[in-house]
Amino acid sequence: MAKIIVLGGSFGGLTAAFELKRLLGKTADITLLSDMDKFVFIPSLPWLAMGWRKPEDITVPLKPILERKGITFIHEEVKGVDAESSKVVTASKQIAYDYLVIATGPHLAFEEVPGLGPDKGHTECIFTLEQAERANKAWNKFLEEPGAIVTGSVQGVSCFGPPYEYAFEIDYELRRMKIRHKVPIVFVTSEPYIGHFGIGGLRNSKRIMEDEFAKRDIKVITNIAVEEFASAEMRLKDGTKIPFKLAMFAPAMKGVPAVAHLGNPRGFIPVDGKCRHTKHKNIFAVGVAVAIAPPEQTPVPTGVPKTGYMTVKMAKTAAYSIASEISGSPAPASYEMDVLCLMDMGNTAALMRAKPLLPPRQESALKSGIIYKWSKAGFEKYFLWKIKHGLSNWP
Ligand SMILES: Cc1cc2nc3c(=O)[nH]c(=O)nc-3n(C[C@H](O)[C@H](O)[C@H](O)COP(=O)(O)OP(=O)(O)OC[C@H]3O[C@@H](n4cnc5c(N)ncnc54)[C@H](O)[C@@H]3O)c2cc1C
Repeated sequence: MAKIIVLGGSFGGLTAAFELKRLLGKTADITLLSDMDKFVFIPSLPWLAMGWRKPEDITVPLKPILERKGITFIHEEVKGVDAESSKVVTASKQIAYDYLVIATGPHLAFEEVPGLGPDKGHTECIFTLEQAERANKAWNKFLEEPGAIVTGSVQGVSCFGPPYEYAFEIDYELRRMKIRHKVPIVFVTSEPYIGHFGIGGLRNSKRIMEDEFAKRDIKVITNIAVEEFASAEMRLKDGTKIPFKLAMFAPAMKGVPAVAHLGNPRGFIPVDGKCRHTKHKNIFAVGVAVAIAPPEQTPVPTGVPKTGYMTVKMAKTAAYSIASEISGSPAPASYEMDVLCLMDMGNTAALMRAKPLLPPRQESALKSGIIYKWSKAGFEKYFLWKIKHGLSNWP
């Protein structure tokens, strides 16, 4: 019986594991390892930071949902992968595999900017459950005595959407509380222009986003790298100093240490159109763990976002590729990199569509409206229900 190991219990890992089980049934022994015992619906973390969601609203325990489907779950951190002998290494064991799917997401590289990050630095972050919970505490404390806020993305960031959501949400919430006039907000980003998003912009995203920030009276500084964060001051590379009471910044990402040796210099894994490692033929990688070259060299380094929608597509391609090799079923087509994303904007939301992901494109759109806010909340509920029931093949 083929032994398949999946690393990571989020969008990529869960989709791959459920799809493999559905396609191969009892002909494969599937094990999923994750250092977390729950699935977190990451797109709702900005809402959690605002106090609009609680952790229990957006998390699902992994063990019952996997075991119900006949997938073994091991709640342990992976320390390494020995690709030559096809073994996964944890602190307590070595597990052999015939096929490996890597879906370990990012290492958040706070260490690349002095003073960045909630653990050793002076800034909040909303990229993990713990960080968003902490950011919510910081927000509540800030509201007791409001002051200046600075938010955005440092050099090398690829996941640009969350700081945009955060900026629009705090603006909305402060206006709702009628204290917006007490809070100067500055949005600082490594993108060459607002609305670039790491993908060369889409359609009229620059104009729409510039208008949105102007309408909301949020000052924007683009195309800049950050020198450091001190306890109440942000220092930019051009010498500008911005004082703050509260700062929330996205960090650059790298591959996680356990699999970084299988990847490029930043630890992201090179794969072909079927999500197969370009050198190790029984290793597949999906989602944020995968290497994707940026569409253009930007003056300040930026990366390409790997969204949940793309991750799920990659995970299905990897699962179909492995299943076709084991069962002799037809191989899948190469996956197409495209984006369909809903960005919250506080009082409204935006639909973003880019097909293909990088220009030139057949389709590209950025539209805002309250209907997208309702769609985002509806999609959250639907996706959590789908994951709880292991229905990874549903749209
Ligand atoms: C705040 C935020 C908002 C977002 N909003 C959207 C959105 O609205 N729409 C959208 O499409 N995308 C959104 N994204 C992007 C989306 O969340 C990612 O594309 C998606 O999470 C990638 O899934 P993944 O499985 O590749 O990695 P991850 O979700 O990062 O999961 C990696 C998993 O691997 C586990 N892991 C890591 N290292 C190890 C190890 N050594 N051993 C064992 N387990 C390990 C982790 O615990 C985690 O469970 C957002 C991202 C962020 C941060």
